[in-house]
Amino acid sequence: MQSLNAFAEAKLAALAAQSLRRTLKEDRRIDGLHIERGGKRLLSFSCNDYLGLTHHPAVKAAASAAIEEYGAGAGASRLVTGNHPLVEALEARLARWKGTEAACVFSSGYMANVGIVPSLVGAEDLILIDELAHACLWAGAQLSGATLIVFRHNDSDQVLDILRAERAHHRRALLLTDGVFSMDGDLAPLDRLSAHCTAYDCWLMTDDAHGLGVVGGGRGAAHEFPGASVPLQMGTLSKAVGSLGGYLCASQAVIDLMKTRARTLIFSTGLPPASVGAALAALDIIESEPERVAAPRLRAQRFTAALNLPAAQSAIVPILLGDAERALEAARELEAQGFLAVPIRPPTVPKGTARLRFAFSALHPEAEIDRLAGAVRALAA
Ligand SMILES: *Cc1c(COP(=O)(O)O)cnc(C)c1O
Repeated sequence: MQSLNAFAEAKLAALAAQSLRRTLKEDRRIDGLHIERGGKRLLSFSCNDYLGLTHHPAVKAAASAAIEEYGAGAGASRLVTGNHPLVEALEARLARWKGTEAACVFSSGYMANVGIVPSLVGAEDLILIDELAHACLWAGAQLSGATLIVFRHNDSDQVLDILRAERAHHRRALLLTDGVFSMDGDLAPLDRLSAHCTAYDCWLMTDDAHGLGVVGGGRGAAHEFPGASVPLQMGTLSKAVGSLGGYLCASQAVIDLMKTRARTLIFSTGLPPASVGAALAALDIIESEPERVAAPRLRAQRFTAALNLPAAQSAIVPILLGDAERALEAARELEAQGFLAVPIRPPTVPKGTARLRFAFSALHPEAEIDRLAGAVRALAA
């Protein structure tokens, strides 16, 4: 298999030459805030654990209790024998919290999107997708075989133009956008997108991986826009919720369709009881501690205010640096001061927009945010 290894080595060398080769580092998360990496203890601004729930005692206890009661794994796909009682409880809980008729839980956010989109649209249909939508929305869209039209980031006027020109030529139409954009931290204009979609019978779907537990009072991006109708609200349990799993909140009919058609639900093992138990306990905390929920965005806004940037709309703040080498260098400088901010490079973000992406947690001390802002200001100087 000489050709195989030669291929892999050449590919790696080409990526390394562009500062685009990635390697895994061992990360030991100590307390939801600090990470030990390469023998150093760093304050992390690169975890999506916005509420510090991965290490919350009640969440960990719920995971352990779920293992004791239901075992370490689900044992099968949900439609066979893997549908343990905790999953049904979690679905009811999510639907109630999000204000939808029903919910369906998948084994991850990525798997959710890859299952949902092809269950709704196919070759005769149209998908409109924001150019900065998450990789797994793209994966679902491509798998569906629908005609794909990309619109400029958050450009609802262009969406209206496309719908006017194209909608009549297709059977069904679906618009895909992040609710909170994962690498930019801004919100989709769901009020305007919702109005256009309603007018043209186009189904609006948000990927709100970074919204649940953080914006809309913890209910997600759709709840930032009171009049908006978002019939398909997808998200993950792996970020603010601190566990693992993806979900769709929607009408009962749509959820019933997912449970009989979504291939990533049918042909993949159900979530382990521990993950579901942890998610349920985390949702208890999210529902009962509004101050914790408000904290990540307030901290992000403290950071943007210190740097004279537009106010953060979520818990995510990017600092664009341009080329990948510059982002790597900036991350090294921050690391020397005890901060972990992983550089984000293409293809995760468009070419020429390599950046540091800061994710703020309810647990970050305000004094450390001020110190970080000072260090970032010094980078630019
Ligand atoms: C992280 C993320 C996902 C994937 O969720 P997982 O549960 O980690 O697979 C999907 N969409 C967006 C926008 C994300 O940021």
